[in-house]
Amino acid sequence: MAKESTIRTPIVCVMGHVDHGKTSLLDRIRGSSVVSTEEGEITQHIGATLVPIDAVTRMGGALSKVSVNVPGLLFIDTPGHHAFTTLRARGGALADMAIVVVDINEGFRPQTIEALQILRNYKTPFVIAANKVDRIHGWRVQENQPFLKTFAQQNERVQGMVETKVYELVGKLSDLGFNSERFDRVSDFARNICIVPTSALTGEGLPDILMVLIGLAQRYMTESLKVSADGPGAGTVLEVKEERGLGMTLDLILYDGTLKVGDEIVVAGNDQIIETKVRSLLKPRPMSEILIEERFERVKSVTAAAGIKVAAPKLDGVIAGSPLRAVRSGNRDEVIEQVRREVQDIEVNLSDV
Ligand code: GDP
Repeated sequence: MAKESTIRTPIVCVMGHVDHGKTSLLDRIRGSSVVSTEEGEITQHIGATLVPIDAVTRMGGALSKVSVNVPGLLFIDTPGHHAFTTLRARGGALADMAIVVVDINEGFRPQTIEALQILRNYKTPFVIAANKVDRIHGWRVQENQPFLKTFAQQNERVQGMVETKVYELVGKLSDLGFNSERFDRVSDFARNICIVPTSALTGEGLPDILMVLIGLAQRYMTESLKVSADGPGAGTVLEVKEERGLGMTLDLILYDGTLKVGDEIVVAGNDQIIETKVRSLLKPRPMSEILIEERFERVKSVTAAAGIKVAAPKLDGVIAGSPLRAVRSGNRDEVIEQVRREVQDIEVNLSDV
């Protein structure tokens, strides 16, 4: 019987040159998670932040061009190339898409170019955040507004400056072999890279960045994002950590299927494959419940895509970046072989960096 497939949340990595605003952009996206934990709100996962589609819509990004069936966006909280290249899934990158942050006033720097080369190699769709637009002299801040709204409020000189800076980026991207345009002038995401002027400090342009990512997912990836939600869980280990009262734990990005308490899992250790059983699955407690002693909330199961903490026996020596796979219906040998193959691939990759 064919299992029903659903489209999972795409995983997004933030890249770009140091100090151009990667961390600030992620912080700004995360910022709204503190206030509410209602359905459809931005929520903190382990090592990641989930922005559901309702939150994107509420921010007012122009979604009119896209018919949305992507459930939202899962941002990996660790920015940078290293996270992108070392976090892998089935031989490719764990991240399905990327934001390349570039300081609009400084333009491209070595790590910007490096990021673009990496994304080209992996054939990963991306959007350019032309960040720090608020630093343009005379800019009038309109907190959290979509770009076109705030742009319309700027005086002619400032508008002209934004245009000039964006065209400098278009020129640089063209030198590197990419066609690009300001996002509101792009009608086909397959032909042009979208440039979105943003401010990680004021939130301006952020609704549009999220909207473009949804559009990219819709345009490129609805096939590759199809997962069987009730299939065995598959994920990538972000970090291996000892936690008080829990022992050794894995911070995991789950990118396929469902992981349940009691599932048999296979992960890669330093020099051997480790088989163990999920003892508990933990997510961060909402901020509103911060007074409760226990930092984590226990859940019985979790469905991709999600960031989750896994507690289990025998996790000593698990390597960061390792694949994790759940065993179902007696396919143990097959799963062990898969993990073994995937770990060889990350070892090759780790020695490259
Ligand atoms: P990263 O190294 O790429 O992660 O850069 P950070 O996010 O740490 O930002 C570097 C500096 O630039 C910090 O002082 C930020 O406050 C500042 N910054 C980042 N984004 C913006 C922005 O959009 N506008 C302004 N004015 N400053 C920003």
